Amino acid sequence: MTKILMLFDTEDFLSPQTPDMQLWWAQEVTSRGITASFQMVGEMTRKLVREGRQDVIDAIKQHDIGYHTNFHSIHPTHPEGTEQLSLPEAVAWVKGREIQGIKDVHDVFKKPLLSYTSPGISWTPATLLANAACGIELAFCVNNYKHTYKPFWYCGNLIVQYGVGFESAYGEYNTDFFKQRFEEVLDKAKKEEDAVFALYTHPGRLATANHWDIAYARGKNPPIHAATPPPLWEPGALEQHKSRVRKLLDWLQGRSDIEFSSVSQISAAYKSRPKKDLPALLDQCGLQAGQEGHLPLKPRSSADDFYGESMEYHYKWVPHIDGFNPTKIFKQAEKLAWTTQQA
Ligand SMILES: [Zn+2]
Repeated sequence: MTKILMLFDTEDFLSPQTPDMQLWWAQEVTSRGITASFQMVGEMTRKLVREGRQDVIDAIKQHDIGYHTNFHSIHPTHPEGTEQLSLPEAVAWVKGREIQGIKDVHDVFKKPLLSYTSPGISWTPATLLANAACGIELAFCVNNYKHTYKPFWYCGNLIVQYGVGFESAYGEYNTDFFKQRFEEVLDKAKKEEDAVFALYTHPGRLATANHWDIAYARGKNPPIHAATPPPLWEPGALEQHKSRVRKLLDWLQGRSDIEFSSVSQISAAYKSRPKKDLPALLDQCGLQAGQEGHLPLKPRSSADDFYGESMEYHYKWVPHIDGFNPTKIFKQAEKLAWTTQQA
């Protein structure tokens, strides 16, 4: 049966409304017996602490905790910061950028960070290797590598796909639009054995009519205190969105062809199968812990055909300038195709 995960990209540290929206989502899924995963941004976590929102932290802590970078869309993003670097340099750069965020999220929630969600389209192979070295071994949103709803290993991470976002039921859209998109994804997933995908949302979007990071669009980089929060929906929309979400959760939980699972359950299940995690890769290459940047870059061979539809992505994401296309990173990604394995 297709397994469904619930993920919350918890990131909008500009809007004053977001902690309350996070609290609402956490309590809603808890009351339904669903274990979700909150993909925490370091700066968002620090904001909850600064504002004394222990209620939100406690509600989120009932669920799995994932990581969603230290600063998300603030420049330089991972591809921007590493486009000219060798792989060892890029891994060191990512660790330098992220280590404080990982520590802060861990210290506040006191739980292992089980997974990582790439902000927008910004994953790099160095990101995955650095995360794995920091103990984060499951990654979402590496979606331009190979499109499958069956988890697979790459760069020491178990890769799982995102499916449908709840924002597709907000504003001018509606619950029918979400349902239609969900059925399309589920139809594809059902064709694969052991398929898993995530339903996701940005909690703040219940209240905000756009993504917060339009403040960082196309290279803009205001300091946080000077960045403009996104606009809010018109009056009444927030309650309408909550009502739509509840109806959709009722609909999803009433289905017999899907099963709600959790990141902790998926991680545990795949750990007991043959795996190609970071220790296995280092071992295969005679490398020690900490040398993940020195994994060899090899020409892609026909044996790596799981690599699939090749690197046809362009880092098309709002914070990036048009045409941003760091080919050196694509090459690194392709030359690590040998790290791929069906999970
Ligand atoms: Zn995000």
